[in-house]
Order: sequence, then C-alpha cells, then structure tokens
Amino acid sequence: MDVRLGDGSMNALNFIGGHFVDAIDGQSIPNINPATGQLIGTLARSKQEDVDAAVNASKIAQQNWSALDMLERADWLDRLAEGLEARKEELAQRESKDTGKPLALARRVDAQRSIDNFRFFAEFARTQEGELFQMQDAVNVVHRKPIGTVGLITPWNLPLYLLSWKVAPALLMGNTIVAKPSELTPLTANLLCEVATEIGLPSGVLNVVHGYGPEVGQAILEHPSIGAISFTGGTETGRHVAATAAPMFKKLSLELGGKNATIVLDDADLDRAVEGAVRAGFTNGGQVCLCGSRILIHASIANDFLTKFVESVESMRCGAPEDESTQIGALISQEHVRKVESYIELGIEEGGCILTGGTRKMTGSVGPTPEGAFLRPTIIDGLAHTSRTSTEEIFGPVVTIHRFETDQEAIDIANSTEYGLAGSIWSKDTERAYELAKQIETGIVWVNTWLHRDLRTPFGGVKNSGVGREGGSWSLGFFSEPLNICIKED
Ligand code: NAD
Repeated sequence: MDVRLGDGSMNALNFIGGHFVDAIDGQSIPNINPATGQLIGTLARSKQEDVDAAVNASKIAQQNWSALDMLERADWLDRLAEGLEARKEELAQRESKDTGKPLALARRVDAQRSIDNFRFFAEFARTQEGELFQMQDAVNVVHRKPIGTVGLITPWNLPLYLLSWKVAPALLMGNTIVAKPSELTPLTANLLCEVATEIGLPSGVLNVVHGYGPEVGQAILEHPSIGAISFTGGTETGRHVAATAAPMFKKLSLELGGKNATIVLDDADLDRAVEGAVRAGFTNGGQVCLCGSRILIHASIANDFLTKFVESVESMRCGAPEDESTQIGALISQEHVRKVESYIELGIEEGGCILTGGTRKMTGSVGPTPEGAFLRPTIIDGLAHTSRTSTEEIFGPVVTIHRFETDQEAIDIANSTEYGLAGSIWSKDTERAYELAKQIETGIVWVNTWLHRDLRTPFGGVKNSGVGREGGSWSLGFFSEPLNICIKED
C-alpha cells in the first residue's frame, strides 16, 4: 500500500512549524520492519539545532493557541480524531509495519485508541466546570494556564496510542508541543502531522523531531524553554530523564516499566482466569507495560490452571502480521528477541523449567521470513519469585509461574519487585479481591479483567514504575499551571 510521509515517501521527516523537513545536518536513520527485516524507509536523525527550530516554532504558535477558549481547542481535537478516523486503515498499516505487531491488533487497539484519545479529551473538556472556593468575604478562582512548550517522549510498543494520550491533553490545555517518538516507530507520528496539515491545525502548535534518545531526546530534556517533560519508556531511561530535568525544575511525568502480577485465587472462574492470563501475558507479544508477566496461582488449583493455560498458549497463532488470524506477530527487533532469549536462558540457569515456547518456530499460515524478529510465547515454571527472571522486566512473550497458599503470600510475592505499575486478581469473591487489591503496591489493579480502561481514571505506577498519573483530570492537571486568583468581596 502507498504510504505517504510528508515528502511522498516512506521517509519520516521532522515536522516543524507546519513543514516536513529533513534534519538540519541532513542525517537520517534506517527504519526496519521487524517482521521482515527489510528497510522500509528512513527517519530524520535530529540534534539540538532541530530541537531549537521546533521550540522556536512552538513559541511563535503559543500566543494564539493559548488565547483560544478551551472549548475551541476541544473542537480541534475532534477534527484531529476525524482526520485520523478517515485514515484509520493506513494508521494501522503503518503501526504494523513499524512494530511487526498483527495488523488486526493494530486496527483494534492502536488505531482505535489513538482516535479515542482525541475524542475522549475533547468530550472531557466539555464536562469541566470552573474551580471556585468561596470564603465569607472573598472568592478564589482557580485559573488554569498552559505551561507553554511541552516535551513529549514516547516508546515503540504502542506508538501513536501513547503519543496521542499526551498530545490531546497537552493541546487542550493550551500548550504547544515538541514531540519525539521512538526511533524504532516514527511512521504514525507523521501520520498525525499529515492530519494536522489536512485539517489546518495552526502551524507550530504540534512539532515532531525524530531521532535517537541520547541526541534529540536529550536536547529536549535540556532545552530551557521546554517547561514540562512527559515521558513514557523504560525505568533506566526514566531515571536519566529525571536526573536531567529535575534540577531545571521542569514539571515531570514518568510512566515507566512494569513486572505485573496476575493473581489467580482458589475460587476463581478457571476458564475466565486462563483467558485473562493469556491476554494479560501475551497481548502485543508481551510488549505492553501492563502485561501480567508473573502468574501467581493458588497451589490448590495450580495443576488444573496450568493444563488449560499451556494448552491455550500453545494454540495461539504466531506469524506474519498481515495474516488476519495472527495473534502474536514479530517483536520490535532482532536485538530485542536476543534480549528476551537471554532471559529465557537465565531462567533455565536459575532453575526454571520451560512448559512451552522458548523457540523462534512460528505457527501462522503465512510463514514469517527467517529475518523476522519472532519468538514463541513462553511459560517458565519452577523459579523462585525472587529470581532475576521473575523480578526484572523482560518486555516480551515470557511469563513465570508462582504458587501461593494464602492471600498474604500472594500479596508478598506480588509486591516483591522494584516495580509497581499494575496487576489483576481473579476471584468469584469480589470483596475478597477488593481487600487484596488494596494491599498491592501498584497504581492500577483489575479484578476479573485486564486492561479494561475508563480514560477518566488515574493511570500510572508507584515505586520504579513512575511518578505521577495520566488520564482525565490528572492529565489536565499535569499539562497546566493553576493560578489562584483571590478576589476580596466588600
Ligand atoms: P526507552 O526508555 O528505551 O525509550 C523511550 C523513549 O525515550 C524513546 O523515544 C527513546 O528514544 C527515548 N530516550 C532514550 N534515551 C533518552 C535520553 N537520554 N533522553 C531522552 N530520551 C531518551 O523505552 P522503550 O524501549 O522505547 O520502551 C519500552 C519501555 O517502556 C518498557 O520498559 C515499558 O515498560 C515502558 N513503557 C511504559 C509505559 C507506561 O505507561 N508505564 C507504557 C509503555 C511502555
């Protein structure tokens, strides 16, 4: 299919001041489709001078953009959603090519949610009421001001889904943007820029600079005119982001890694729990920060659960992304496959036993090429819950199995990693599950479901999974500065 990218090719240029432009020094980076190993284009390799240009464009646009009423900006979000909707299939195609994920998944999750993010924040804006605090002799009016230029840095696993989750509230609150998508997945950020051009979004309101984290990402972190950094990515990178931006007193939102527990209690509906554990473990090839990569099972049902779980995982179709029946596509790169394989080897060294998977053999009807970055979904049993394999984020199709006897033991195991993003509990007794959920050290717990999202609710983690929350009013709060105006009444 013909994919246009600003300059009419597959090359992802920067988008600065409403124009698609090369990096100022003309350098570029190859962009590889991980499912085929083929070069699909290039992306601009931006540096500090490109960030300077993007910041300048954003500052010029700032005054007029922030002068609009929030409801006018909400209308722009709706137009962006409409523009994306009109190109939804192309969006899914680009996402699948960049990431190697199944096209069906890219349609259902990535494309749909990217559109929904704009629609949601537009609608959410229309429900907002003024914040007033009445005193006996005065009234306090909380006026929300934009921060100015904000820097958005995002990862490769859900490229436009996560970028639009930041772009929509940032624009809504009157900010202008310098965004840096992952260097592995540039294509859909540019589709958003094309849509911005098509709908006539004012130039300079949305700017995108492509390239490597330590180059262009670092320049965003260090730029004195960028007042806030909203970052989603790995914990180690997040630590560096915080160390760089915090001394400059930039506002910081950090959405980082996870090692989430799926807890199956002895009274769980087994079929439902198995289905949930498969989805939580292997959606997007396990490359979702929320994935339930540790499965904690009550010892009394462990054998029954595992028989069904292994059977279900083995029946997953792994193969070419364009095959409509594919459930697991390629991982993001060959390098990432090697990293995940090294964890499988570590798991064996640590005393684990592979119940299924661990190989690159695929099962889909359209055979993937040997150059593709594929790996079968893998279950490892027999590991201590304190082992490295069971506590470090692998971010691939690998889950570990752990048994427990009491609810307290389940809580202790769930809380025994440095991460604290999410988790799920499976039980017919929702009161018991609720009591247990309150003791899990994470920002999100699902009961008898997984990744069931109401976009108004707080999203984010504790411990090494991040600082701050996104979603609904949390996002609006992050992307604005409250100014309290106290008016004395006579
Ligand atoms: P990453 O940390 O390697 O990269 C994320 C982004 O940061 C990329 O755009 C990268 O180019 C940029 N970056 C790298 N070095 C930088 C630097 N020095 N300065 C500024 N920017 C820099 O993460 P990844 O491999 O792209 O994504 C996977 C990770 O993201 C996993 O750990 C996953 O759990 C996490 N993640 C978290 C969430 C969440 O909401 N908590 C969501 C998705 C992914």
